[in-house]
Amino acid sequence: MPSGRFAPSPTGRLHLGNLRTALLAWLFARSDGSPFWIRFEDLDTASVRPEHYQSQLEDLRLLGLDWDDDVIRQRDRRDLYESALATLYQAGLTYPCYCSRREIREATQAPNGPWSHGHYPGTCSQLTAEQRIRHESAGRTPSLRLRGSPQPIEFVDLLCGPTRGLVDDAVVQRFDGTPAYNLAVVVDDVAQEIELVVRADDLLDSTPRQLHIADVLGLPPPRYAHVPLVLAPSGDRLAKRDGAVTLADRMALGEDPVQVLSFLATTLGLAEAGERVSPGILIDRFPSATLPTEPLVLEPDRLDLG
Ligand SMILES: [Zn+2]
Repeated sequence: MPSGRFAPSPTGRLHLGNLRTALLAWLFARSDGSPFWIRFEDLDTASVRPEHYQSQLEDLRLLGLDWDDDVIRQRDRRDLYESALATLYQAGLTYPCYCSRREIREATQAPNGPWSHGHYPGTCSQLTAEQRIRHESAGRTPSLRLRGSPQPIEFVDLLCGPTRGLVDDAVVQRFDGTPAYNLAVVVDDVAQEIELVVRADDLLDSTPRQLHIADVLGLPPPRYAHVPLVLAPSGDRLAKRDGAVTLADRMALGEDPVQVLSFLATTLGLAEAGERVSPGILIDRFPSATLPTEPLVLEPDRLDLG
């Protein structure tokens, strides 16, 4: 059966924007009677804070959201990603890249042509064996890049509409051997039979890259619904410095989880202001929701959740 998922990184407490995305992902899956998975994206071990595996699950549980066993951690699944990397390598689609971040930044100072700022300019794509040996003997450890797509990749996002993007030569394995996020997420979404990926739209730009990776691995891509971010009044994405942004913050103000859930539901057109709703009620009302297509601006310290 097609599944849905919420895939947070355990780097801190979930904020209202994360919880809103989780609620929407849960509604898409559960209103369809589908499994719903939690997957921790924790390959970047330097930023993981172990206590937040539990704090994030606890906040979802307090809101009344449920999920299927088992909760998945990407760091337990490296075999899967390494087998995908081996497939790409054996197909001759990857090459080692010796560039430092600074070299890439300097090479892309002046954006040119159709590329957005920060794309990889292909510096290492045609290195000779001698050049590689020279880099290796200088002590440089390469990352592994996947050759991009010569054609723009197009897809129709459920919330953002028709979208297209160019795909540069993306890192699929970092220089320390860690599989890259863009590879792992593709492998996991296919392995878990995710039919619709519901996630924040800061990942919209990465989606053509992920579709390309699925394509060269011969994997069926999911569909996507990118949820516009929740922003602070400054226009920046919501963050801890913006005030009472987490469920724990709101509860410290005397609000209860039902109020927070109900507030999130009002922002999706699923509840009236001041109404108290349960996840079950929201399932009955979904999908008559006004699905978000614009960012939601919040001033957390002025929110009165009723
Ligand atoms: Zn390079």
